[in-house]
Amino acid sequence: MADVLYVVVPCYNEEEVLPETSRRLKEKLRSLIAAEKISSRSRILFVNDGSKDRTWELICKLHKEDAVFSGLDLTRNRGHQNALLAGLMFAKEKCDMAISMDADLQDDVDAVDRMVEEYCAGCDIVYGVRSSRKKDSFFKRFTAEGFYRVMNFLGAETVFNHADYRLMSKRALEGLSQFQEVNLFLRGIVPMIGYRSGTVEYERGERFAGESKYPLKKMLAFAMEGITSLSVKPIRYITLLGFLIFLVSIIMLITFVVEWALHMTVVGWASVICSVWAIGGLILLSLGVIGEYIGKIYLETKDRPRFLIREVLDRDEAGT
Ligand code: UDP
Ligand code: MG
Repeated sequence: MADVLYVVVPCYNEEEVLPETSRRLKEKLRSLIAAEKISSRSRILFVNDGSKDRTWELICKLHKEDAVFSGLDLTRNRGHQNALLAGLMFAKEKCDMAISMDADLQDDVDAVDRMVEEYCAGCDIVYGVRSSRKKDSFFKRFTAEGFYRVMNFLGAETVFNHADYRLMSKRALEGLSQFQEVNLFLRGIVPMIGYRSGTVEYERGERFAGESKYPLKKMLAFAMEGITSLSVKPIRYITLLGFLIFLVSIIMLITFVVEWALHMTVVGWASVICSVWAIGGLILLSLGVIGEYIGKIYLETKDRPRFLIREVLDRDEAGT
């Protein structure tokens, strides 16, 4: 018997793309089932992340028409990462492998075949890596590539140009379920699970319809989340900065004493004011970074649930 595949698709206000996404995914699953690469109990699992439009209605309709579509309805909007986690944790109990994918068809559906092949060849995690960003706007490309570089520099190791399009085996998902953090950044955590991994290249397309649900503000918050939840390097850099500034002040002190001895001192307040502002700014920045970590500790100690599920749609019969 072939293995069961769950394709997990988080959806937030995606009524415009769902009909096409569901059609293409269903076709893909059908052809894989026909080729006996996956079991006929495989599913496309849509996770409704508190959408304000008709997304959940559409998912219910799809599920009613065909058992190949399953659905999870979260109680409210919890963000992409939590929606994805909810889907993966649900799928874990039912599948042998799960693929996570965006709803907007930017991730090439045809890469699914190659991911399944890699899985059959013995990989537990298969990363979808985009081969180029030609289709992204200059701004998106620039910010996104900068994001990976800064992340790596600050110690949050991620797979370059890999977003959340990936396959994970059941045991990799079980590994993931043991990472209990509330501050969730899947891209950084999945490589920590270990096991054998592979990559599959794909061309990332444009959003099929609708608008990006990741405006700049959310992207910056996401980057901040990623860095501070994976690495303490920023705090280390602050210590280094403090040390450097202290060194500079010592050097300044020595020069001033020498100048004073040589009667070369100049009266000036501009330089004093500048340094006061510079130091003040740096202190505030450093406090901010430290505060960010303390805020994280605060949230983690509360141990709040990462998502709550309102409704589950999942039938046991084979899809059509
Ligand atoms: N998404 C979500 N919850 C959110 C925001 C986004 O579930 O709060 C989903 C969205 O429906 C999509 C995926 O996350 O399936 C990626 O979002 P989007 O395509 O808007 O991001 P972009 O490709 O622009 O980075
Ligand atoms: Mg997108």
